[in-house]
Amino acid sequence: MTFSAFGDKFTRYTGITRLMDDLNEGLRTPGAVMLGGGNPAQIPAMKAYFQQLLGEMLEEGKLTEALCNYDGPQGKDVLRHSLAKLLSKELGWEVDAKNIALTNGSQSAFFYLFNLFAGQRADGTSRKVLFPLAPEYLGYADAGLDEDLFVSAKPNIELLPEGQFKYHVDFDHLHIGEDIGLICVSRPTNPTGNVITDEELIRLDALAQQHNVPLLIDNAYGVPFPGIIFSEATPLWNANTILCMSLSKLGLPGSRCGIVIADEKIITAITNMNGIISLSPGSTGPAIANEMIERGDLLRLSEDVIKPFYLQRVKQTIATLRRYLPEDRCLIHKPEGAIFLWLWFKDLPISTEILYQRLKQRGVLMVPGHYFFPGLEHPWPHTHQCMRMNYVPDEALIEQGVKVLAEEIERAHNEHAAK
Ligand code: PLP
Repeated sequence: MTFSAFGDKFTRYTGITRLMDDLNEGLRTPGAVMLGGGNPAQIPAMKAYFQQLLGEMLEEGKLTEALCNYDGPQGKDVLRHSLAKLLSKELGWEVDAKNIALTNGSQSAFFYLFNLFAGQRADGTSRKVLFPLAPEYLGYADAGLDEDLFVSAKPNIELLPEGQFKYHVDFDHLHIGEDIGLICVSRPTNPTGNVITDEELIRLDALAQQHNVPLLIDNAYGVPFPGIIFSEATPLWNANTILCMSLSKLGLPGSRCGIVIADEKIITAITNMNGIISLSPGSTGPAIANEMIERGDLLRLSEDVIKPFYLQRVKQTIATLRRYLPEDRCLIHKPEGAIFLWLWFKDLPISTEILYQRLKQRGVLMVPGHYFFPGLEHPWPHTHQCMRMNYVPDEALIEQGVKVLAEEIERAHNEHAAK
């Protein structure tokens, strides 16, 4: 069988596919400690809430109504209207329903947007997507129709007390050439839990406007929902920004609902792409989200249930890590949001890819760091010294995984010392 060039590119076994495979396999393997994937936590209060909400929606015919009809290609009208109203009221943004399109998960929105603004143009030139701060989300890495669609910039590293550190955008070396068509940043960042500061975001916004390219802010974990953000960060939206949101980290990844908030022209483009690629986005997630907004539950649950849950988990996980791994063995990126910890094993004698293999053999899944540098131009040893773990499972499982991690780190050091 021979595939097209598109087929060849999109049938590759990529980092994201391996991750989803690991996740699937691990979820079905008894005893496996899954610290690899991005599945959100099964928060008991949220599960109970969804159970009840879905029951009521079913009784009222709202679920059947959603399932039995196509929405328009821009996505469910009632949600676009209620969400626009919510965002204007809560954040003072001048957004209305015309500025919102829905997609089947934000992952498919990135595919649309990257290829809308980067790649070959009619005039023969081509553009790239710039990630101004790597490490950046693994899910972006293979979403380009053209090869080499991405460039990313190395961060500055600020060392902090208690064995922590924080990445910053290195504005002194950030080059935005003629070939950049889109700037993209996740805030909070997967994999690091970093939240770029307000000052950094404002500078990026100004640079994007100056170069006449949109700034895509991936807000999958941010405010006002799901609210998995622990530092002070002001949300930003204006006509030059494209804000992507999602219902996934609220606890509804199976609903595959992404939300794009952007200038009308971009929303029209997304709407037409939706029509061509999927007729219309799925409608059950949007029906649920609309119901949550109407009941006043969306922001309340984000603030009162989801955020405290993850904050408590992250504190607990850091305490566990520190019981097994001292600062000279493992630095931790300052956890400011999202559902991951980013660990830096500065003097580890093996790469984190090898560490990943060894951990996997012992039933512990984490993700080696080098996947998270899409488009980094020059080799950088740091990319092989880091590892991402989620802190979603309960305390006992995390401790089991961390114990194995510490043993493998010690083993690697001992092997090296014995040489
Ligand atoms: N953006 C980031 C930073 C993520 O970590 C994820 C999922 O893990 C997504 C987007 C994808 O979300 P969705 O389920 O809406 O496709």
